[in-house]
Amino acid sequence: MLERYASNVGNSAATLQGMSLADATLARNAWIEIDLAALEANLAAMRRAVGPTVELFAVVKANAYGHGAAPVSRTLEQAGVDRFAVAWLDEALALREAGITRPILVLEHTFPASAQAAVASNVDCTVHSRELALALSEAAVVAGRPANVHIKVDTGLHRFGLDAREAIDLARFCRALPGLNVDALWTHMANADEDDDTFSLDQLAQLQAVRDALPWVPHCHAANSATALRRPELRFDAIRTGLALYGLVPANTPDPALTPVLSLKARLARVHVVAAGQGVSYGHTWRAPRDTVVGLVPVGYADGWRRSLGNRGEVLVHGRRCPIVGRVCMDQLLVDLSALPSRPVEGDETVLLGEQGGQRITADEIATLTDTISWEVVAALLPRLPRIAHRAGWVSSVG
Ligand SMILES: *Cc1c(COP(=O)(O)O)cnc(C)c1O
Repeated sequence: MLERYASNVGNSAATLQGMSLADATLARNAWIEIDLAALEANLAAMRRAVGPTVELFAVVKANAYGHGAAPVSRTLEQAGVDRFAVAWLDEALALREAGITRPILVLEHTFPASAQAAVASNVDCTVHSRELALALSEAAVVAGRPANVHIKVDTGLHRFGLDAREAIDLARFCRALPGLNVDALWTHMANADEDDDTFSLDQLAQLQAVRDALPWVPHCHAANSATALRRPELRFDAIRTGLALYGLVPANTPDPALTPVLSLKARLARVHVVAAGQGVSYGHTWRAPRDTVVGLVPVGYADGWRRSLGNRGEVLVHGRRCPIVGRVCMDQLLVDLSALPSRPVEGDETVLLGEQGGQRITADEIATLTDTISWEVVAALLPRLPRIAHRAGWVSSVG
């Protein structure tokens, strides 16, 4: 047994490739599993939902919502996704480094000083100013190949973008510059997954007016996951989907049979009895009502597991829900194991997010407990947790 424990911590990712998940995680304290088959199935489900004529941008910003941008993007590219979208240029350049060849769109602000880097890596920018347009045009002329640009219309989110009038002017300005190709107009919905998303129709009308003024721009995209699934009239010829690819369903949105891609697991680091009346963890915010078997789970707020889950959340152990007791620490938390029929031992697998023995803890459940949304639950998981990507339990990459 000791030999097996020694066999995988510190081993290179290459050694772990092809190993079973069970073996690859045997001596790990805590890790994330990324189910690549589920990711592919979610892509297929979104394609079915929106139809074959709508292009799909995979939104892989923020390390693919905490799932690991490189393995997720490679899998999606192989599965035939049309394009990628990220928030910032650095994220796009990292995807190119990882070998991604499909078009990549930067959704948010880019400085003119970065135009050359964008053009050199064939990354499409969202253009918001004449300065950026001029810099991209110059870089494209020097590089000898056209640069695609997208223009974002601010139709009411009042975040990044341009008012309708400014967008039309900038699109015409770009059209007249050498080396620039205005590829698409786009916008982003303010109330995509709200109970009442009728404001989306106001936004649609504004976008439509800009499109009417610029009939020569070939593409248009407006829908995120929720809007793509709720409002066919806003699909245009492309959608930008993030959350749904990761198998999470936005609020107020029909579920096209998605499967969660990410699980967070850990092995018990200690199992011991806390005597009646003793307090556990900082501040002794929980005291054992009787002699209680308590387990130590090596995940904490420095992994992105919220401190506010102290005395609130649950963890699956032996396929049952066990309550978190006391405060969540930086590196670990405690669970009350006293309801289990048999006593766990050090090394037993626990599930913080995902499925075990037919029970499931969802990102939505954690989001409700921590007063946030599922996007934040997964995107907040920090790099200290290794991402083990697998297909049907066989490791494909570790990062
Ligand atoms: C993050 C983001 C998306 C993806 O949204 P989901 O709800 O995760 O599908 C789409 N468009 C823009 C502009 C975004 O910032």
